[in-house]
Amino acid sequence: MAELKLSESRDLTRIERVGAHSHIRGLGLDSSLEPRAVSEGMVGQTAARKAAGVILRMIKDGKIAGRAVLLAGQPGTGKTAIAMGMAKSLGLETPFAMIAASEIFSLEMSKTEALTQAFRKAIGVRIKEETEVIEGEVVEVHIDRPAVAGAASKTGKLTLKTTEMETVYDLGAKMIEALGKEKVTSGDVIAIDKATGKITKLGRSFSRSRDFDAMGPQVKFVQCPDGELQKRKEVVHCVTLHEIDVINSRTQGFLALFTGDTGEIRAEVREQIDTKVAEWREEGKAEIVPGVLFIDEVHMLDIECFSFLNRALENEMAPILVVATNRGITTIRGTNYKSPHGIPIDLLDRLLIISTQPYTEDEIHKILEIRCQEEEVEMTESAKHLLTKIGVETSLRYAIHLITAAALACQKRKGKAVDLEDINRVYNLFLDVKRSTQYLMEYQSQYMF
Ligand code: ATP
Repeated sequence: MAELKLSESRDLTRIERVGAHSHIRGLGLDSSLEPRAVSEGMVGQTAARKAAGVILRMIKDGKIAGRAVLLAGQPGTGKTAIAMGMAKSLGLETPFAMIAASEIFSLEMSKTEALTQAFRKAIGVRIKEETEVIEGEVVEVHIDRPAVAGAASKTGKLTLKTTEMETVYDLGAKMIEALGKEKVTSGDVIAIDKATGKITKLGRSFSRSRDFDAMGPQVKFVQCPDGELQKRKEVVHCVTLHEIDVINSRTQGFLALFTGDTGEIRAEVREQIDTKVAEWREEGKAEIVPGVLFIDEVHMLDIECFSFLNRALENEMAPILVVATNRGITTIRGTNYKSPHGIPIDLLDRLLIISTQPYTEDEIHKILEIRCQEEEVEMTESAKHLLTKIGVETSLRYAIHLITAAALACQKRKGKAVDLEDINRVYNLFLDVKRSTQYLMEYQSQYMF
């Protein structure tokens, strides 16, 4: 692996769809870290947002090393939203990786591999590259050594002899520069003044087919509007360590990033990548951008995973770890001990704990309004009120899901805006958890034999 392949993954971190949290653009704090009532897609949950803001300040001051954040609160109280808001506040390039703890128990890879991948998804590498940015009109010039030499002997005016392909390239660069906007094409004969480097186009003295096309390598040059062949520019790519791992580890390469079928990545591949990245950092070519790793349902992790987290937090490249749970005192998986949030004491000790509170009716109404805007759904005021009531009675997430479904119902009846009838319709089509359980209880005798 001489050169790490990077170019393919350039835009992966920016792929976004209208996902559940796409309306979250930050924590919505002012410059003194006070939460604005509604800002950057965030509504309410002010105490938690303020606390998250203080943590952001600690991160920026480099005082978070070895620690992590625990968001404790009921389902649907914005734990994921706050973690994402933190990542967004850290900057556009800050990677955000999210897993549910139960996801790491799979047959495809070991628990530690799944956690390692999650960590590396949350570590960005900003790579600066000096690159030749070629702009302008493409001109194909077919030249190579015999051509130049041959032309020289034919016209008696070309005096440059080239021995290396590189020199041919340089020659072409000079040629384009000198000719400015004039097109140079296959079969053109040029004269180069050896002393001054001045190049003059002499015309076409021999046929393209006979002399040029048989000559092998073609060199493609570009004629820029300002006469310069190339410009050196600094290009910055931002990729995650995980993307670099995947691209360099499997034959299917970067496509695995889309399918998620990355399998286990060999330790040697990661070591090589880490060495390379360390080299780039030393040479000033790369910087590490620690992102945010959000682990939901953290009580589902077992004792081995918790030890892994403890160790991983010590790493100098560690992302900001934000874990979330809605459990109180519960058993630590893999042991017979109980502890707060099902998290071992040594990890609890490292955690800054933030609690999230249930939303008021007004806050739910506002969040639903923001989601309607985000999904570009027109909704009447009365429909919004009904949806808010549903949100209060069932869950915020259920109410959010109904927006898309109700919009489809409205589209079907060719309505202009989602109205009460659409909400009613989808409310009856899709059950919330409460009604679904009730239904099952009523009919369980028919399901069980
Ligand atoms: P769980 O414990 O079930 O994972 P959660 O506490 O992580 O739930 P979220 O998934 O963050 O809850 O919230 C549910 C939905 O409500 C998401 O679409 C989220 O973006 C949105 N949401 C939650 N809180 C806020 C908020 N304060 N402002 C704006 N949107 C919010």
